[in-house]
Amino acid sequence: MQSIEVSTHQRDEMIDITSQVQRVVDESGVKDGLAVVFVPHTTAGITINEHADPAVAKDIIYSLDKQIPWSDSGYRHREGNSASHIKASLMGSSVSVIVSAGRLDLGTWQGVFVCEFDGPRRRKVNVNLIPA
Ligand code: ZN
Repeated sequence: MQSIEVSTHQRDEMIDITSQVQRVVDESGVKDGLAVVFVPHTTAGITINEHADPAVAKDIIYSLDKQIPWSDSGYRHREGNSASHIKASLMGSSVSVIVSAGRLDLGTWQGVFVCEFDGPRRRKVNVNLIPA
């Protein structure tokens, strides 16, 4: 297992880590298998979506913010960051990508994003490679 360190700069932010994940694949020597990318945090998530147009990630953040307000009198979690936990659960804590001929087998427009929902912070992303 390898870890990627990510510094985030805003409360809500999507950070493209595709090249860092690919570097872990390169260094592992695994040519065919599965890459499991896991975020061990409760207020950050991970997702795969378009990384060609950075506006897509901004629109996802904008839309999540609209659905899940930061403040709501119904929230019970005393730390005050319930919105962060909810958004993290919606995104999920792992993605799996097939590795084929040493490359992450992503679609043309796809990238792997860490989703920060309670930044800025230092985040860790674990990458496990399972050879075929
Ligand atoms: Zn909390």
